[in-house]
Amino acid sequence: MSKYTVLHDRLHRWYLEHGRHDLPWRRTEDPYRIYLSEIMLQQTQVATVLERFYFPFLERFPTLKDVAEASEEAVLKAWEGLGYYSRARHLHVTAKRTGGRLPRSAEELEKLPGIGRSTARAIACFAYGEALPILDANVKRVLYRFFRRRKATQQELWAMAERLFDSRRPYDYNQAMMDLGAMCCTPKRPDCAACPLRSSCRGRQTPERYPEPKKRKKLPLRRRQILLCRRGDSVALVQRKEALLGGMWGFPQREEMLPGRRLGTMVYRYTHFELEATILESELPSELQGRVRFFTSDELLHIPLSMLDRKIVTRFLMS
Ligand code: SF4
Repeated sequence: MSKYTVLHDRLHRWYLEHGRHDLPWRRTEDPYRIYLSEIMLQQTQVATVLERFYFPFLERFPTLKDVAEASEEAVLKAWEGLGYYSRARHLHVTAKRTGGRLPRSAEELEKLPGIGRSTARAIACFAYGEALPILDANVKRVLYRFFRRRKATQQELWAMAERLFDSRRPYDYNQAMMDLGAMCCTPKRPDCAACPLRSSCRGRQTPERYPEPKKRKKLPLRRRQILLCRRGDSVALVQRKEALLGGMWGFPQREEMLPGRRLGTMVYRYTHFELEATILESELPSELQGRVRFFTSDELLHIPLSMLDRKIVTRFLMS
């Protein structure tokens, strides 16, 4: 019997009563649906995924085999607006590499692109019942507080996750820990009085001290000219190559000032920098000749564009 058996039973009762059992990825054993939810939820809130992205993506690609058979551009288009597009590119590569059939163990899943240790374990646990703990942001916060740690390495966090793990009910335990972090052990004002772990939680007197808050770094500012180069009723776009937006289409950007008609400015916040963009109607610079494709307004609706480029279309081309 584990020293946490009583606690596990309390957590389990709490989960049965308060857990988010209606989430669609909890009402299926289809590994693809579970995998898709895990990937979408890596950087995006549950409500956003649920309301805007999960079901439309599944409608477009009902199986992983459908993803494998689609072009990268079609997958990126279905991902448009979710951001962090490497997730969609990795999903596409994984679909192709596995022929639409995911491996069953966390060890094998972790070898696939875009599937880290926690995601591999989540898929293996929720789809195939493998008894392993997971470590998403909510679970980490609970562990930091439960063990009263302000800082911990990844290795130490995994060790804490193993210590508290309920191997008798791995599926329910992992879901319960995620729900506890999302609903009870929240970043601000956690509800310790209602928490099933409170009797053994070392951090419950001052929970908000754990973990140590991250210092918010000031993002570097980048200034760019964003070029609207028209030809008849079409506009020139380039296909991006950089890690952040690779595969997406977008307006050409330039650091240096170019001649043209200034249409307006926009500020856009990425994860690692802030972009101050001047939107410029201009001639196509000679070095871009042959490196762009022209799209009509109708065609722009059917290609994957980043959020910033989509906003530029709405504000400067459709108005
Ligand atoms: S007792 Fe409070 S700090 Fe500890 S796990 Fe529960 S909600 Fe979090």
